[in-house]
Amino acid sequence: MIVKEIQIAAYLFASILFILSLGSLSSQESAKRGVFYGIIGMIIAVLATVLGQGVAGHVYIIAAIAIASLIGVMLARRVEMTAMPQLVAILHSFVGLAAVLVGFGSYLDPHTQMLEGTERTIHLVEVYVGVFIGALTFTGSIIAWGKLEGKVRSKPLLYPGRHLVNIILLVVCVVLGVVFAGEEGVQGMTHLYLMTAISGFIGVMLVMAIGGADMPVVVSMLNSYSGWAASAAGFMLGNDLLIVTGALVGSSGAILSIIMCEAMNRSFFSVILGGFGNGPAAGGDAKAMEGEVTSITHEETAHLLKDAKSLVIVPGYGMAVAKAQYPIYEMVQLLRKDGKQVRFAIHPVAGRLPGHMNVLLAEANVPYDIVLEMDEINEDLPDTDVVMVIGANDVVNPGAQDDPSSPIYGMPVIEAWKAEKVIVMKRSMSVGYAGVENPLFYKNNTDMLYGDAKESVEKILGFLRK
Ligand code: NDP
Repeated sequence: MIVKEIQIAAYLFASILFILSLGSLSSQESAKRGVFYGIIGMIIAVLATVLGQGVAGHVYIIAAIAIASLIGVMLARRVEMTAMPQLVAILHSFVGLAAVLVGFGSYLDPHTQMLEGTERTIHLVEVYVGVFIGALTFTGSIIAWGKLEGKVRSKPLLYPGRHLVNIILLVVCVVLGVVFAGEEGVQGMTHLYLMTAISGFIGVMLVMAIGGADMPVVVSMLNSYSGWAASAAGFMLGNDLLIVTGALVGSSGAILSIIMCEAMNRSFFSVILGGFGNGPAAGGDAKAMEGEVTSITHEETAHLLKDAKSLVIVPGYGMAVAKAQYPIYEMVQLLRKDGKQVRFAIHPVAGRLPGHMNVLLAEANVPYDIVLEMDEINEDLPDTDVVMVIGANDVVNPGAQDDPSSPIYGMPVIEAWKAEKVIVMKRSMSVGYAGVENPLFYKNNTDMLYGDAKESVEKILGFLRK
């Protein structure tokens, strides 16, 4: 057992470590240190809580932590990098569920029943708001998981008057809340259950209404909601650290969502409200493709690379699937030794989770100074000899700029087509995540190199070494 003062000091120290962790995660060089701060902060937080006064049943707590840690380690080891967003989404659902259960428990707690007057009202509001956000996060995250996993169709489920229905349901929740706060003892439990069901339904409908292309924002929004749910649980439990940590997660998730919306030229409110006020980007079909698709062999590609002076590689989800980052970096090293300028162009939503491509390239030890963001490299593309698009599709779609009927119209993209020559490496002509045809493949200066990205790069490497 530790005394209250030590617990408060430990909580403060853990909060500082969490802030340092978030700060360090902002750049690739310091990201590892950031993760380390986070781990130490979390260990201190758990120990300070479990060893705190008034905590009983340590055997059960340790057993629960041990079992949960084992499941966590097994899941994290097994999960493919490409399935990370699904894992993150399902983990958010647990935070939501925890907030709901803490809310129920806190309401039924005999201590709550001893509260009176304003104090009781404040506590009941905390419980009610916490359960509301928790239930919404819980069901919303499950639907997001289903969409990312391909178990729920990714097309937005839109029905007329859905915003009105959502507003009415919200009003019903507010009215139920007022009645709940006025109930004696635990008589408000029925209202709490009813609101939980309604909030859960709103969570389902909000995420169902969001289309595939906006899923990156949804994942980070749910991250934010889960933070607010944890913060609300902190208020209910009177735990300052949980309040601070929840607020950090909540606000950083919201900031990330706004940054992603800007990167995709989407209105933040339109995305989180499930397509509210979406223009043509919400649904229309892109215009028919014009031009002819031409292909190239691995040997021809190797010759082209040998002749080029400046090269830009645009990686996408397919690179992650094929785990092609290792041979790609080998190829880059070989080309750089030959005196060529080789750089990577990273789109903010390439892959399936924020920073996906940066993580994979860092894993393969690609130096950070040749990894550039879309905005940094777009203006150099007209002077580039060859752009290699490796497993990317939506992020290099010119329709986003020049086809107002395209579902991804307005999303900033990497302007690969402006280079002298474009090689697109993928297995077929199939569409990417947003389900849109890509006019880039039909351009005169584009050649398709069909095949698995890793196998293709290895074949090119073979020819380059000759
Ligand atoms: P896309 O999903 O647009 O395209 C990926 C392409 O990779 C496919 O067209 C596929 O074509 C190809 N591919 C798949 N497997 C392989 C393989 N083994 N070898 C070679 N190619 C392969 O990916 P982008 O990265 O361009 O765009 C990301 C999309 O995902 C955006 O629409 C974004 O909004 C969305 N998204 C992003 C998230 C994020 O946070 N970053 C989260 C959720 C969604 P083929 O089958 O012909 O090989």
